Formats: sequence, structure tokens, C-alpha cells
Amino acid sequence: MSDRSEAMTTAEERRLVEQLWQELKPLYDLVHAYIRQQMAQMYPGHVQLDQPIPLHLTKDLFGTMLTYLEHDIIPFPDIEGIDLGPAMKRKNFTEENIFQYADEFFVALNLTRVPDRFWNLSIFKKIPNRHMACHPTAFDMYKYDDVRIRMCTSVTSRDFYVVHHEMGHIQHYLQYKNLSFWFRRSPHGAFSEGIGDAIALAAMSPTHLKRIGLLENYASSKEENIKFLVSQALSRLFLPPYAYALELWRWSVYNESILPSEYNKRYWDLMCQYQGMKPPEVRDERYFDAGTKLHIAFDLTYIKYFLAHVFQFQIFDVLCHEAGNRGPLHLCDLHGSVAAGKKLKVLLGLGSSKPWEDILEEFAGVKTFSAKSCLKYFQPLRDYLEKLVAEGQLNVGWKCENNGFSTRSFMPTTIWLILILKFILSNIFFPL
Ligand SMILES: [Zn+2]
Repeated sequence: MSDRSEAMTTAEERRLVEQLWQELKPLYDLVHAYIRQQMAQMYPGHVQLDQPIPLHLTKDLFGTMLTYLEHDIIPFPDIEGIDLGPAMKRKNFTEENIFQYADEFFVALNLTRVPDRFWNLSIFKKIPNRHMACHPTAFDMYKYDDVRIRMCTSVTSRDFYVVHHEMGHIQHYLQYKNLSFWFRRSPHGAFSEGIGDAIALAAMSPTHLKRIGLLENYASSKEENIKFLVSQALSRLFLPPYAYALELWRWSVYNESILPSEYNKRYWDLMCQYQGMKPPEVRDERYFDAGTKLHIAFDLTYIKYFLAHVFQFQIFDVLCHEAGNRGPLHLCDLHGSVAAGKKLKVLLGLGSSKPWEDILEEFAGVKTFSAKSCLKYFQPLRDYLEKLVAEGQLNVGWKCENNGFSTRSFMPTTIWLILILKFILSNIFFPL
């Protein structure tokens, strides 16, 4: 679907993305170094401490959500961490239950409960023996309060997060449902995605998880907090460099500064430079690896996800301030804060009836996206990692010279066969 961010390639907007990335990069480099070091212990000889991370070892096709590594690389293994999957199973959570918890979260903020028919018309889990699209999606049917979800949910930590994200979209639809049809949409792609993620941040804070009985014995010690922030970094800090590199590649294809003969090489160059990752094996121009991303194949914008990943912390920070939280940002619990709910209504209820900059100013007092709140959220982790660097226990940075790309010129086998056949026919059977 098209939105205003589809046109998000103006020089000014690109400058904003570059500026946000420069603010995030020192934190990303530290986290990258830490994850790489932990992976080097898991895969001896396959991960070098001054090289990009081999992408396939992240267990994520694009290296953007590294939650599958969580159990293996999280620090302080002797300290019990937050493991939502088993906790939900112990509490007999069902797929539908998670949606009910998310709905209650909004109700406690004095926002709108989903209508009854939402529960009848939505699909919460995979229907056995039926081929179906499973990509989690929230639908506004544009019929007053007909909103629905389609998701093949599983009772896991990852889906606890996704459900809250999707229910953020649903709440957005419910809040702007009384506007005229033309304004019932997000004013900017980063808004809709960022709102859902900010709600997920709130729902997954240790303080909130304790409140709803999914976390016991969390004393908020330094080690527990670092452990929690590493898991949050795995799910939230790896997308921005990927999204930026992907869009830089696409923008360069469109302005022809990348030529078709080097599509794949330049794709991996950018991934190495920004993400610090390399392909599992030698790639060359036979492949079109950028096209494996749906947003490239369907020509959909992707930079909104970069902005949403930054914006979610900005939204969360504003709401936490409104809720009276003065402690560390990652421990903020919005539960039951009518003041935070009122503030959230400003962001949700205006739809696209005003320019996004004006809505942002009404909500946050500033007219643009900022990375400050993201840095604030991860500050305890940053302090910890900087200490490791200062003690010589962590090696930061990577080299990109040989990032798995073959410079061998490629000519498809079929072309070679045609040329050989032509040579034989013209020189042997039909000599001049
Ligand atoms: Zn979404």
C-alpha cells in the first residue's frame, strides 16, 4: 500500500536518515562486536573477531532480528533470564489469550476495547490442513469498527511481541475510525509501525511482565538488566543498518549510480559496510540477492522500518514521561496510566488529518524523529560494553575487503554453449 513515505527519497529526508544512523552507529558497533564475540565461541573458526559476521549463522535470513540466538549468546548464564515462552505455557496461555492480554493493556490506558466481532472475525492460529498466508496482518475493513487480525500465532516470546505490535495497529484504526475516510490512515509509514513497537516495548518491560505474572524473581540487578537489554538489542538494533543499506542500494539503482552489471556486488558491499555481515558463500552476478526481500521484489518502501525502529523509543519515552516514570527507560511500565493513554490518543486519533510533523509536534514537542530516546533506553548496555572495550575484552569494528563476493566475470553456461556451437558450425561444417 502506498503512503507518504513512498516518496521518502528527498535530499532532506535522506539527510535525516543519515544523521540518525550516525547517532546510532557507535551503539550498533558495540552490540555487533559483543554478539560476534559470543558467536565466535559458539562457532570456533567460523567467526573472526575483526571480520563481518557470517549472515547464515545469525539464523535470520536478513540478519535483522537475531532473537533465535538469544539462548546461546546471552550473558550471565547463571542468572535466570526472561523466558516468556515457558512462562506462558506454565500459565496455560493460548494463542487467543495473548491478544486478550494486549487488549487489556490498551483498556488499562483508558483506550478502546476491541469490538466483540473482532474475536469472531479474526484468525489467531494456523488452520490445520489449509494453505494460508501467515504473515501477521492487522486489517481495517473501513466499516466503522470492523477491524481484524490474521496471524498464525505460536505461544512464544517472539509472538508475544508481534501480537502487541499488531494490536497497536488495531488500536490506531479504532482511534481514528470517526474521521472521514480520506484521513483514516497513518500520516507516515513510520508512525503505524512505530506505535505498535512502542506498545510492545511497554508490554515487554520487566516491570510489566512481573505485574501480569509472567516474570518472577526479577530483582532488577545490574546483570539482569544487561541480560534483558541484550535480548532487546537482538530484536531491535539489527534492522536499522540493514534497512538503510537496502534503501541506499535501491536509491542508487534508481539514480543509476549502481549499474545492472554490479547489482549483487554493490548489495553485499553495502551490507558489509553498514550491517557488518557477509554472505555464507561466494556470491556473484548470477544471483540477485536484494530481490529475496519482498519489499524489493514488490517495490515497497523499506526506510519506514528504519524510522519506526528509532521512533518507537521516542514514543515510549514520551509516554513514560507522561506516566511519571523517572527511572531507567527500559524498566518503565505504562500499565494503568490514564495520562499516557490520553497522550497516545493524540498520536493515534488524528489519522492523517494533519502533516506528520505537526502531529509529532503535538505529541512530542518536536517536529522530527530523534534517536536520543533509543540511546537513552540502551545506555546501561552501552556503559557495560564500553567498559569491556576499555578493559581490552571486546574488539570493535570489521574489515570489508573480502566480504564473500567474487569479482570473477560471469558468463552463463548457455552463452558459452551457443558460442562453441556457433564456432563448430561455422568453422567445421561450413568452412569459408
Ligand atoms: Zn506492523
